[in-house]
Amino acid sequence: MRKLKRFFVTGGAGFIGSSFIRFLLARDDVERVINFDLLTYAGTLKNVEGCERDPRYRFIHGDILNQSFVEELLKEEKIDTLVHFAAESHVDRSIACARPFVEVNVLGTLSLLEAVKKNSSIHFHQISTDEVFGALGEEGFFSETSPYQPNSPYSASKAGADHLVRAFTHTYNLSTTISHSSNNYGPGQHTEKLIPLVISNCLQNLPLPIYGQGRNVRDWLYVEDHAEAIFLILQKGRRGESYNVGGNSQLPNIELIHLLIELLAEAKGVSKTSYQGLIRFVEDRPGHDFRYAVDTSKIENELGWKVKTSLSKGIAHTIEWYLV
Ligand code: NAD
Repeated sequence: MRKLKRFFVTGGAGFIGSSFIRFLLARDDVERVINFDLLTYAGTLKNVEGCERDPRYRFIHGDILNQSFVEELLKEEKIDTLVHFAAESHVDRSIACARPFVEVNVLGTLSLLEAVKKNSSIHFHQISTDEVFGALGEEGFFSETSPYQPNSPYSASKAGADHLVRAFTHTYNLSTTISHSSNNYGPGQHTEKLIPLVISNCLQNLPLPIYGQGRNVRDWLYVEDHAEAIFLILQKGRRGESYNVGGNSQLPNIELIHLLIELLAEAKGVSKTSYQGLIRFVEDRPGHDFRYAVDTSKIENELGWKVKTSLSKGIAHTIEWYLV
């Protein structure tokens, strides 16, 4: 089991990173948690509200591309584990303009790896995505050994970053792990993403734009289940290995939207028909991957991880958060 006491978390003001920081601070055996984030449009300190009251926590405003700053901080804070969430994360934005994705996701990861190379006792964990494997048809699952076939500039940039992690592991003998998760959801996600967009548009009586006919299939993972999986990988994952993390909740987007509408209408005590009337089918996203689904048997069998939160329970929590 790896020694895990002093963490450097990049992108900890974002959706998944902030959930992971709260997970860490809930553990007595964690000594230090550095949240290193540039606070782009996607990051907000609201996501980590209250953490500043914990003396183990420190927020540092900075850019992962600033290698020398990161290097100094890793030394000063005697970091033993770096968990890398920071990224440009929205596929639609990458289709509109790919360059920031390559700069932040590829070059930013390179700069962190270079910093860790100079402090090589640090374990580096790369938060990747199932999207690096491309698209599936109606059947089958991605395994950790599926070939990389990224289809969007976003997934290509994440794939590039993963390849650098692999190369630094083999070339410089760094201690690394990678996780590939499916779509996350839960409290605090930016409203540009599907689930928060549907909830907030319903609440404001705005149209619900659905790509194509809404037949694309996604697997949904509750963000707190993801945080637990990452911690297990850090503790017990084999050096140089990658692990898939999925929610075991696959469904076509249109079915997800009907489920969201039903649970939201129930929570608000209103009829679902007015929300259903907001659905608008819009022109499909270029190169829209039909289906993603990950085989999670490796993390289950090797590390004993299991999904805890069903989709309906996770969505109900998420809706509650929006209604407060
Ligand atoms: P997010 O967009 O909510 O947060 C990204 C965070 O990174 C923000 O706080 C932002 O300020 C920060 N950031 C961006 N550029 C930075 C820079 N140059 N230096 C420092 N900080 C910077 O993203 P998320 O949804 O929480 O995703 C986190 C990670 O998980 C990403 O690497 C993403 O690719 C991966 N991932 C996300 C999902 C998902 O469903 N959201 C699924 C699989 C993998």
